[in-house]
Amino acid sequence: MFRKILIANRGEVAVRIIRSCREMGIPTVSVYSEADVNSLHVSLATESYCIGPKESAKSYLNVQAIIATALLSGADAIHPGYGFLSENADFADICKAHGICFIGPSGDVIRRMGDKAQARATMANKKIPITPGTGIIKDIKEAKKFCKKIGYPVIIKATAGGGGKGMRIVNEEKELEENMSLCQTEAQSFFGNPDVYIEKYLQNPRHIEVQILADKKGNVIQLGERDCSIQRRHQKLVEETPSPGVNKAVREKLAKTAIEVVKAVQYEGVGTIEFLLDKDNNFYFMEMNTRLQVEHGISEMISNVDIVREQVCIAAGLPLSVKQSDIKLQGHAIECRINAEDPDKNFMPMAGVIKGYNAPGGFGVRVDSHVYSDYEIPPYYDSLISKLICWAPTRQQAIRKMYRALKEYAIVGTKTTIPFYQMLIEDAVFISGKFDTGFIEDFCMRYADK
Ligand code: ADP
Repeated sequence: MFRKILIANRGEVAVRIIRSCREMGIPTVSVYSEADVNSLHVSLATESYCIGPKESAKSYLNVQAIIATALLSGADAIHPGYGFLSENADFADICKAHGICFIGPSGDVIRRMGDKAQARATMANKKIPITPGTGIIKDIKEAKKFCKKIGYPVIIKATAGGGGKGMRIVNEEKELEENMSLCQTEAQSFFGNPDVYIEKYLQNPRHIEVQILADKKGNVIQLGERDCSIQRRHQKLVEETPSPGVNKAVREKLAKTAIEVVKAVQYEGVGTIEFLLDKDNNFYFMEMNTRLQVEHGISEMISNVDIVREQVCIAAGLPLSVKQSDIKLQGHAIECRINAEDPDKNFMPMAGVIKGYNAPGGFGVRVDSHVYSDYEIPPYYDSLISKLICWAPTRQQAIRKMYRALKEYAIVGTKTTIPFYQMLIEDAVFISGKFDTGFIEDFCMRYADK
Protein backbone atom coordinates (compact mmCIF):
# COMPACT_ATOMS: atom_id res chain seq x y z
CA MET A 1 0.00 0.00 0.00
CA PHE A 2 1.04 3.62 -0.44
CA ARG A 3 3.19 5.37 2.16
CA LYS A 4 1.46 8.72 1.74
CA ILE A 5 -1.07 10.14 -0.71
CA LEU A 6 -1.08 13.70 -1.99
CA ILE A 7 -4.48 15.04 -3.01
CA ALA A 8 -4.12 17.38 -5.96
CA ASN A 9 -7.47 19.05 -5.46
CA ARG A 10 -9.50 21.21 -3.13
CA GLY A 11 -12.82 21.52 -1.38
CA GLU A 12 -15.31 18.75 -0.84
CA VAL A 13 -13.62 16.15 -3.03
CA ALA A 14 -10.29 16.59 -1.24
CA VAL A 15 -12.13 16.11 2.08
CA ARG A 16 -13.87 13.03 0.67
CA ILE A 17 -10.56 11.44 -0.35
CA ILE A 18 -8.80 12.32 2.91
CA ARG A 19 -11.60 10.56 4.82
CA SER A 20 -11.10 7.23 3.04
CA CYS A 21 -7.30 7.52 3.32
CA ARG A 22 -7.59 8.11 7.07
CA GLU A 23 -9.80 5.07 7.46
CA MET A 24 -7.19 3.06 5.56
CA GLY A 25 -4.42 4.40 7.80
CA ILE A 26 -2.69 6.24 4.96
CA PRO A 27 -1.22 9.69 5.78
CA THR A 28 -2.33 12.47 3.43
CA VAL A 29 -0.80 15.61 2.00
CA SER A 30 -3.11 18.40 0.96
CA VAL A 31 -2.13 21.24 -1.32
CA TYR A 32 -3.91 24.58 -1.40
CA SER A 33 -3.91 27.97 -3.02
CA GLU A 34 -3.50 31.18 -1.03
CA ALA A 35 -7.27 31.67 -1.32
CA ASP A 36 -8.03 28.28 0.25
CA VAL A 37 -6.03 28.47 3.46
CA ASN A 38 -9.27 28.08 5.50
CA SER A 39 -10.75 25.17 3.57
CA LEU A 40 -11.44 22.03 5.61
CA HIS A 41 -9.23 19.94 3.31
CA VAL A 42 -6.21 21.88 4.61
CA SER A 43 -6.86 21.15 8.28
CA LEU A 44 -7.98 17.53 7.83
CA ALA A 45 -4.86 16.31 6.01
CA THR A 46 -1.82 15.03 7.85
CA GLU A 47 0.34 17.70 6.16
CA SER A 48 -0.62 20.70 4.04
CA TYR A 49 1.35 22.90 1.69
CA CYS A 50 0.52 26.10 -0.13
CA ILE A 51 1.31 25.63 -3.82
CA GLY A 52 0.49 28.99 -5.32
CA PRO A 53 -1.77 32.02 -5.57
CA LYS A 54 -5.54 32.03 -6.03
CA GLU A 55 -5.54 31.42 -9.78
CA SER A 56 -6.07 27.71 -10.55
CA ALA A 57 -3.51 27.88 -13.36
CA LYS A 58 -0.86 28.85 -10.80
CA SER A 59 -1.96 26.50 -8.02
CA TYR A 60 -4.25 23.49 -8.61
CA LEU A 61 -3.05 23.19 -12.21
CA ASN A 62 0.58 23.96 -11.35
CA VAL A 63 2.13 20.61 -12.21
CA GLN A 64 5.66 21.56 -11.17
CA ALA A 65 4.57 22.71 -7.72
CA ILE A 66 2.40 19.63 -7.19
CA ILE A 67 5.09 17.16 -8.25
CA ALA A 68 7.73 18.98 -6.18
CA THR A 69 5.43 18.88 -3.12
CA ALA A 70 4.82 15.16 -3.59
CA LEU A 71 8.55 14.44 -3.88
CA LEU A 72 9.57 16.64 -0.96
CA SER A 73 6.83 15.33 1.34
CA GLY A 74 7.54 11.71 0.45
CA ALA A 75 4.12 11.02 -1.10
CA ASP A 76 4.28 8.03 -3.43
CA ALA A 77 0.82 8.50 -4.95
CA ILE A 78 -1.33 11.40 -6.13
CA HIS A 79 -5.10 11.36 -6.13
CA PRO A 80 -6.34 13.97 -8.62
CA GLY A 81 -10.03 14.04 -7.51
CA TYR A 82 -12.23 15.36 -10.32
CA GLY A 83 -11.77 18.44 -12.51
CA PHE A 84 -8.34 20.15 -12.48
CA LEU A 85 -5.68 17.54 -13.47
CA SER A 86 -7.88 14.43 -13.14
CA GLU A 87 -8.19 13.81 -16.88
CA ASN A 88 -4.88 15.29 -17.92
CA ALA A 89 -2.95 12.50 -19.66
CA ASP A 90 0.35 14.42 -19.58
CA PHE A 91 0.03 14.83 -15.82
CA ALA A 92 -0.49 11.08 -15.42
CA ASP A 93 2.67 10.49 -17.49
CA ILE A 94 4.65 13.06 -15.51
CA CYS A 95 3.67 11.40 -12.22
CA LYS A 96 4.88 8.07 -13.60
CA ALA A 97 8.15 9.57 -14.81
CA HIS A 98 8.80 10.78 -11.25
CA GLY A 99 8.04 7.41 -9.70
CA ILE A 100 4.73 8.63 -8.27
CA CYS A 101 1.59 6.55 -8.78
CA PHE A 102 -1.22 8.53 -10.42
CA ILE A 103 -4.45 7.20 -8.88
CA GLY A 104 -6.30 6.71 -12.14
CA PRO A 105 -5.72 5.04 -15.48
CA SER A 106 -2.57 5.43 -17.57
CA GLY A 107 -1.90 8.53 -19.65
CA ASP A 108 -2.54 6.53 -22.83
CA VAL A 109 -6.00 5.40 -21.71
CA ILE A 110 -6.92 8.95 -20.62
CA ARG A 111 -5.79 10.23 -24.02
CA ARG A 112 -7.84 7.61 -25.87
CA MET A 113 -11.03 8.17 -23.87
CA GLY A 114 -10.62 11.89 -23.16
CA ASP A 115 -10.88 12.75 -26.82
CA LYS A 116 -14.62 12.37 -27.37
CA ALA A 117 -14.39 11.87 -31.13
CA GLN A 118 -11.73 9.19 -30.73
CA ALA A 119 -13.69 7.47 -27.95
CA ARG A 120 -16.77 7.37 -30.20
CA ALA A 121 -14.74 5.84 -33.01
CA THR A 122 -13.36 3.18 -30.65
CA MET A 123 -16.89 2.34 -29.47
CA ALA A 124 -18.29 2.19 -32.99
CA ASN A 125 -15.52 -0.28 -33.86
CA LYS A 126 -16.57 -2.47 -30.97
CA LYS A 127 -20.23 -2.30 -32.05
CA ILE A 128 -21.26 -0.25 -28.99
CA PRO A 129 -24.21 1.99 -30.00
CA ILE A 130 -23.31 5.67 -30.40
CA THR A 131 -25.45 8.62 -31.55
CA PRO A 132 -25.11 9.27 -35.29
CA GLY A 133 -22.24 11.70 -35.69
CA THR A 134 -19.06 12.72 -37.45
CA GLY A 135 -15.37 12.53 -36.70
CA ILE A 136 -13.46 15.80 -36.27
CA ILE A 137 -14.95 18.31 -38.72
CA LYS A 138 -12.41 19.73 -41.15
CA ASP A 139 -14.62 21.95 -43.29
CA ILE A 140 -18.08 23.42 -43.35
CA LYS A 141 -19.14 21.69 -46.59
CA GLU A 142 -18.57 18.30 -45.01
CA ALA A 143 -20.52 19.42 -41.93
CA LYS A 144 -23.47 20.65 -43.98
CA LYS A 145 -23.62 17.46 -45.97
CA PHE A 146 -23.68 15.34 -42.83
CA CYS A 147 -26.33 17.44 -41.07
CA LYS A 148 -28.57 17.33 -44.12
CA LYS A 149 -28.31 13.55 -44.05
CA ILE A 150 -29.16 13.06 -40.35
CA GLY A 151 -31.51 16.06 -40.07
CA TYR A 152 -31.53 18.96 -37.59
CA PRO A 153 -31.22 19.63 -34.67
CA VAL A 154 -27.57 18.69 -34.23
CA ILE A 155 -25.09 19.39 -31.44
CA ILE A 156 -21.55 20.58 -32.08
CA LYS A 157 -19.14 19.39 -29.41
CA ALA A 158 -15.51 20.09 -28.55
CA THR A 159 -13.60 16.79 -28.68
CA ALA A 160 -11.74 17.88 -25.54
CA GLY A 161 -14.91 19.24 -23.87
CA GLY A 162 -16.16 18.65 -20.35
CA GLY A 163 -18.22 20.18 -17.57
CA GLY A 164 -21.03 21.07 -19.96
CA LYS A 165 -18.78 23.54 -21.78
CA GLY A 166 -17.92 23.63 -25.49
CA MET A 167 -21.31 22.46 -26.82
CA ARG A 168 -23.72 24.21 -29.19
CA ILE A 169 -27.12 23.10 -30.43
CA VAL A 170 -27.95 24.00 -34.02
CA ASN A 171 -31.55 23.92 -35.26
CA GLU A 172 -31.13 24.79 -38.94
CA GLU A 173 -28.50 24.92 -41.63
CA LYS A 174 -28.17 28.68 -41.71
CA GLU A 175 -26.97 28.66 -38.07
CA LEU A 176 -24.38 25.96 -38.64
CA GLU A 177 -21.35 27.86 -39.90
CA GLU A 178 -21.43 30.60 -37.28
CA ASN A 179 -21.95 28.13 -34.44
CA MET A 180 -19.16 25.94 -35.65
CA SER A 181 -16.63 28.73 -35.58
CA LEU A 182 -17.91 29.94 -32.19
CA CYS A 183 -17.61 26.41 -30.83
CA GLN A 184 -14.08 26.07 -32.20
CA THR A 185 -13.05 29.38 -30.62
CA GLU A 186 -14.57 28.36 -27.26
CA ALA A 187 -12.94 24.93 -27.47
CA GLN A 188 -9.56 26.56 -28.03
CA SER A 189 -9.96 28.97 -25.13
CA PHE A 190 -11.43 26.47 -22.61
CA PHE A 191 -9.54 23.32 -23.53
CA GLY A 192 -6.58 24.47 -25.65
CA ASN A 193 -7.82 22.37 -28.58
CA PRO A 194 -10.13 23.77 -31.30
CA ASP A 195 -11.32 20.39 -32.68
CA VAL A 196 -15.07 19.86 -32.82
CA TYR A 197 -17.41 17.17 -34.15
CA ILE A 198 -21.14 16.90 -34.72
CA GLU A 199 -23.77 14.57 -33.25
CA LYS A 200 -27.47 14.17 -33.82
CA TYR A 201 -29.21 16.12 -31.06
CA LEU A 202 -31.67 13.80 -29.33
CA GLN A 203 -34.88 15.45 -28.19
CA ASN A 204 -35.02 15.41 -24.40
CA PRO A 205 -33.28 12.12 -23.62
CA ARG A 206 -32.39 10.92 -20.14
CA HIS A 207 -28.75 11.05 -19.05
CA ILE A 208 -27.96 7.63 -17.61
CA GLU A 209 -24.49 6.56 -16.52
CA VAL A 210 -23.01 3.39 -15.12
CA GLN A 211 -20.36 3.33 -12.38
CA ILE A 212 -17.66 0.79 -13.06
CA LEU A 213 -14.58 -0.45 -11.19
CA ALA A 214 -11.82 -2.45 -12.85
CA ASP A 215 -8.68 -3.73 -11.17
CA LYS A 216 -5.34 -4.67 -12.73
CA LYS A 217 -6.12 -8.39 -12.48
CA GLY A 218 -8.93 -8.26 -15.04
CA ASN A 219 -11.84 -8.07 -12.58
CA VAL A 220 -14.58 -5.64 -13.64
CA ILE A 221 -17.74 -4.81 -11.71
CA GLN A 222 -20.53 -2.26 -12.08
CA LEU A 223 -22.60 -0.58 -9.36
CA GLY A 224 -25.76 0.09 -11.35
CA GLU A 225 -26.91 3.23 -13.11
CA ARG A 226 -27.28 6.83 -12.02
CA ASP A 227 -29.87 9.12 -13.53
CA CYS A 228 -28.36 12.57 -14.05
CA SER A 229 -31.08 14.07 -16.24
CA ILE A 230 -31.75 17.00 -13.91
CA GLN A 231 -29.30 19.45 -15.45
CA ARG A 232 -28.92 23.16 -15.95
CA ARG A 233 -26.81 24.32 -18.90
CA HIS A 234 -25.72 20.69 -19.43
CA GLN A 235 -24.41 20.54 -15.85
CA LYS A 236 -25.85 18.09 -13.35
CA LEU A 237 -27.81 19.37 -10.34
CA VAL A 238 -29.62 16.33 -8.91
CA GLU A 239 -28.66 12.70 -9.39
CA GLU A 240 -30.36 9.54 -8.23
CA THR A 241 -29.90 5.81 -8.32
CA PRO A 242 -31.54 3.62 -9.47
CA SER A 243 -33.10 5.60 -12.31
CA PRO A 244 -36.89 5.84 -12.12
CA GLY A 245 -36.96 5.74 -15.93
CA VAL A 246 -35.05 2.50 -16.47
CA ASN A 247 -36.75 -0.89 -16.44
CA LYS A 248 -35.12 -4.18 -15.52
CA ALA A 249 -34.36 -5.21 -19.11
CA VAL A 250 -32.75 -1.85 -19.97
CA ARG A 251 -30.85 -1.85 -16.67
CA GLU A 252 -29.32 -5.23 -17.47
CA LYS A 253 -28.44 -4.14 -21.00
CA LEU A 254 -26.84 -0.91 -19.78
CA ALA A 255 -24.74 -2.79 -17.24
CA LYS A 256 -23.65 -5.34 -19.84
CA THR A 257 -22.74 -2.63 -22.34
CA ALA A 258 -20.78 -0.66 -19.72
CA ILE A 259 -18.70 -3.76 -18.93
CA GLU A 260 -18.10 -4.28 -22.65
CA VAL A 261 -16.84 -0.69 -22.94
CA VAL A 262 -14.42 -1.25 -20.05
CA LYS A 263 -13.11 -4.44 -21.60
CA ALA A 264 -12.87 -2.85 -25.06
CA VAL A 265 -10.36 -0.29 -23.79
CA GLN A 266 -8.75 -2.55 -21.17
CA TYR A 267 -9.60 0.04 -18.59
CA GLU A 268 -8.11 -0.04 -15.10
CA GLY A 269 -9.46 2.12 -12.30
CA VAL A 270 -12.85 3.56 -11.42
CA GLY A 271 -14.80 5.22 -14.18
CA THR A 272 -18.18 6.10 -15.54
CA ILE A 273 -19.77 5.22 -18.84
CA GLU A 274 -22.27 7.89 -19.85
CA PHE A 275 -25.23 7.12 -22.10
CA LEU A 276 -28.21 8.98 -23.50
CA LEU A 277 -31.47 7.05 -23.31
CA ASP A 278 -34.25 8.00 -25.73
CA LYS A 279 -38.03 7.70 -25.37
CA ASP A 280 -38.00 4.28 -27.04
CA ASN A 281 -35.46 2.87 -24.57
CA ASN A 282 -32.62 2.97 -27.08
CA PHE A 283 -29.37 4.08 -25.49
CA TYR A 284 -26.21 5.47 -26.97
CA PHE A 285 -22.68 5.75 -25.58
CA MET A 286 -21.83 9.39 -25.01
CA GLU A 287 -18.49 9.41 -23.25
CA MET A 288 -16.40 7.79 -20.57
CA ASN A 289 -15.12 9.71 -17.54
CA THR A 290 -11.83 8.19 -16.50
CA ARG A 291 -11.97 9.46 -12.93
CA LEU A 292 -14.01 9.70 -9.75
CA GLN A 293 -17.23 11.60 -10.38
CA VAL A 294 -18.96 14.21 -8.23
CA GLU A 295 -22.02 11.97 -7.88
CA HIS A 296 -20.20 8.75 -6.92
CA GLY A 297 -21.61 8.96 -3.37
CA ILE A 298 -25.12 7.86 -4.35
CA SER A 299 -23.73 4.63 -5.81
CA GLU A 300 -21.79 4.07 -2.59
CA MET A 301 -25.00 4.42 -0.59
CA ILE A 302 -26.90 1.73 -2.50
CA SER A 303 -23.96 -0.65 -3.01
CA ASN A 304 -22.10 -0.32 0.30
CA VAL A 305 -18.84 -0.03 -1.65
CA ASP A 306 -16.40 2.77 -0.76
CA ILE A 307 -15.43 3.76 -4.30
CA VAL A 308 -12.44 5.88 -3.25
CA ARG A 309 -11.05 3.07 -1.13
CA GLU A 310 -11.37 0.64 -4.05
CA GLN A 311 -9.77 3.23 -6.36
CA VAL A 312 -6.74 3.55 -4.08
CA CYS A 313 -6.45 -0.25 -3.80
CA ILE A 314 -6.70 -0.69 -7.59
CA ALA A 315 -3.89 1.84 -8.11
CA ALA A 316 -1.78 -0.06 -5.56
CA GLY A 317 -2.25 -3.23 -7.63
CA LEU A 318 -4.66 -4.96 -5.25
CA PRO A 319 -7.70 -6.88 -6.46
CA LEU A 320 -11.21 -5.47 -5.98
CA SER A 321 -12.47 -6.31 -2.50
CA VAL A 322 -15.87 -7.37 -3.88
CA LYS A 323 -17.12 -9.52 -6.73
CA GLN A 324 -20.16 -8.71 -8.84
CA SER A 325 -22.07 -11.46 -7.10
CA ASP A 326 -21.37 -9.77 -3.72
CA ILE A 327 -23.02 -6.54 -4.85
CA LYS A 328 -26.64 -6.22 -3.75
CA LEU A 329 -27.93 -2.83 -4.76
CA GLN A 330 -30.32 -1.77 -2.03
CA GLY A 331 -32.75 1.09 -1.65
CA HIS A 332 -32.65 4.46 -3.35
CA ALA A 333 -30.23 7.39 -3.09
CA ILE A 334 -30.58 10.99 -4.25
CA GLU A 335 -27.98 13.76 -4.31
CA CYS A 336 -28.56 17.51 -4.49
CA ARG A 337 -25.51 19.55 -5.43
CA ILE A 338 -25.64 22.55 -3.11
CA ASN A 339 -24.07 25.46 -4.97
CA ALA A 340 -23.30 28.96 -3.70
CA GLU A 341 -25.45 30.51 -6.40
CA ASP A 342 -28.50 32.72 -6.59
CA PRO A 343 -31.25 30.69 -8.29
CA ASP A 344 -33.28 33.89 -8.75
CA LYS A 345 -30.47 35.49 -10.76
CA ASN A 346 -29.96 32.75 -13.29
CA PHE A 347 -27.79 30.76 -10.86
CA MET A 348 -25.19 33.52 -10.58
CA PRO A 349 -22.23 32.32 -8.44
CA MET A 350 -22.05 33.92 -5.00
CA ALA A 351 -18.96 34.38 -2.84
CA GLY A 352 -18.75 35.63 0.72
CA VAL A 353 -18.69 34.54 4.34
CA ILE A 354 -20.97 31.79 5.68
CA LYS A 355 -22.19 33.46 8.86
CA GLY A 356 -24.17 30.54 10.21
CA TYR A 357 -24.08 26.87 9.28
CA ASN A 358 -26.09 23.86 10.36
CA ALA A 359 -25.85 20.70 8.29
CA PRO A 360 -28.65 18.12 8.47
CA GLY A 361 -28.08 14.68 9.94
CA GLY A 362 -29.91 11.57 10.95
CA PHE A 363 -30.27 8.09 9.52
CA GLY A 364 -29.51 7.91 5.80
CA VAL A 365 -28.33 11.53 5.47
CA ARG A 366 -24.80 12.25 4.24
CA VAL A 367 -23.21 15.67 3.77
CA ASP A 368 -19.92 15.87 1.86
CA SER A 369 -18.60 19.39 2.26
CA HIS A 370 -15.59 21.51 3.09
CA VAL A 371 -17.47 24.49 4.53
CA TYR A 372 -18.46 25.49 8.07
CA SER A 373 -19.57 28.52 10.05
CA ASP A 374 -17.36 31.60 9.34
CA TYR A 375 -15.91 29.97 6.22
CA GLU A 376 -15.34 32.43 3.40
CA ILE A 377 -16.28 31.08 -0.03
CA PRO A 378 -13.59 32.23 -2.46
CA PRO A 379 -14.93 33.51 -5.80
CA TYR A 380 -12.25 31.79 -7.90
CA TYR A 381 -13.45 28.19 -8.10
CA ASP A 382 -16.47 26.01 -8.75
CA SER A 383 -19.58 27.08 -6.86
CA LEU A 384 -20.21 23.59 -5.41
CA ILE A 385 -20.03 23.90 -1.60
CA SER A 386 -21.76 20.74 -0.46
CA LYS A 387 -23.33 17.50 -1.64
CA LEU A 388 -26.41 16.44 0.25
CA ILE A 389 -27.11 12.72 -0.20
CA CYS A 390 -30.14 10.89 1.17
CA TRP A 391 -30.66 7.15 1.23
CA ALA A 392 -33.89 5.29 2.06
CA PRO A 393 -35.39 1.90 1.21
CA THR A 394 -37.69 3.35 -1.50
CA ARG A 395 -37.62 6.33 -3.87
CA GLN A 396 -40.61 7.88 -2.20
CA GLN A 397 -38.96 7.68 1.22
CA ALA A 398 -35.68 9.03 -0.17
CA ILE A 399 -37.57 12.04 -1.56
CA ARG A 400 -39.23 12.67 1.80
CA LYS A 401 -35.91 12.36 3.56
CA MET A 402 -34.31 14.81 1.12
CA TYR A 403 -37.16 17.25 1.72
CA ARG A 404 -36.66 16.95 5.47
CA ALA A 405 -32.87 17.33 5.19
CA LEU A 406 -33.14 20.37 2.90
CA LYS A 407 -35.49 22.02 5.41
CA GLU A 408 -32.93 21.38 8.16
CA TYR A 409 -29.96 22.63 6.17
CA ALA A 410 -29.20 26.20 7.25
CA ILE A 411 -26.56 28.24 5.46
CA VAL A 412 -26.73 31.90 6.44
CA GLY A 413 -24.79 34.77 4.86
CA THR A 414 -24.75 33.67 1.26
CA LYS A 415 -27.37 32.53 -1.23
CA THR A 416 -27.40 28.85 -2.12
CA THR A 417 -29.48 26.52 -4.25
CA ILE A 418 -31.13 24.98 -1.13
CA PRO A 419 -34.47 26.87 -1.51
CA PHE A 420 -34.54 25.93 -5.19
CA TYR A 421 -34.18 22.23 -4.35
CA GLN A 422 -36.86 22.51 -1.66
CA MET A 423 -39.29 23.41 -4.44
CA LEU A 424 -37.87 20.93 -6.94
CA ILE A 425 -38.13 17.98 -4.58
CA GLU A 426 -41.86 18.69 -4.11
CA ASP A 427 -42.53 19.06 -7.82
CA ALA A 428 -45.11 16.64 -9.17
CA VAL A 429 -43.10 15.90 -12.33
CA PHE A 430 -39.97 15.15 -10.31
CA ILE A 431 -41.95 12.95 -7.92
CA SER A 432 -43.51 11.08 -10.85
CA GLY A 433 -40.02 10.15 -12.06
CA LYS A 434 -41.10 10.93 -15.63
CA PHE A 435 -38.54 13.58 -16.50
CA ASP A 436 -35.70 14.06 -18.96
CA THR A 437 -32.88 16.54 -19.60
CA GLY A 438 -35.48 19.20 -20.46
CA PHE A 439 -36.85 19.14 -16.89
CA ILE A 440 -35.01 22.13 -15.39
CA GLU A 441 -35.86 24.51 -18.22
CA ASP A 442 -39.51 23.63 -17.84
CA PHE A 443 -39.37 23.70 -14.03
CA CYS A 444 -37.61 27.10 -13.98
CA MET A 445 -40.40 28.61 -16.06
CA ARG A 446 -42.95 27.30 -13.57
CA TYR A 447 -40.72 28.35 -10.61
CA ALA A 448 -40.40 31.90 -12.03
CA ASP A 449 -44.22 32.21 -12.03
CA LYS A 450 -44.47 31.34 -8.32
P1 ADP B 1 -19.62 17.08 -20.69
O1 ADP B 1 -18.48 16.15 -20.96
O2 ADP B 1 -19.28 18.51 -20.87
O3 ADP B 1 -20.34 16.79 -19.39
P2 ADP B 1 -21.48 15.49 -22.24
O4 ADP B 1 -21.03 15.03 -23.56
O5 ADP B 1 -21.41 14.52 -21.09
O6 ADP B 1 -20.68 16.81 -21.85
O7 ADP B 1 -22.96 16.06 -22.35
C1 ADP B 1 -23.57 16.78 -21.27
C2 ADP B 1 -25.06 16.84 -21.46
O8 ADP B 1 -25.39 17.46 -22.71
C3 ADP B 1 -25.76 15.49 -21.53
O9 ADP B 1 -26.01 14.96 -20.26
C4 ADP B 1 -27.03 15.84 -22.27
O10 ADP B 1 -27.97 16.46 -21.41
C5 ADP B 1 -26.55 16.87 -23.26
N1 ADP B 1 -26.21 16.21 -24.55
C6 ADP B 1 -24.98 15.86 -24.97
N2 ADP B 1 -25.03 15.26 -26.20
C7 ADP B 1 -26.33 15.24 -26.56
C8 ADP B 1 -27.05 14.75 -27.72
N3 ADP B 1 -26.43 14.18 -28.75
N4 ADP B 1 -28.39 14.89 -27.73
C9 ADP B 1 -29.05 15.48 -26.69
N5 ADP B 1 -28.44 15.96 -25.59
C10 ADP B 1 -27.10 15.84 -25.52
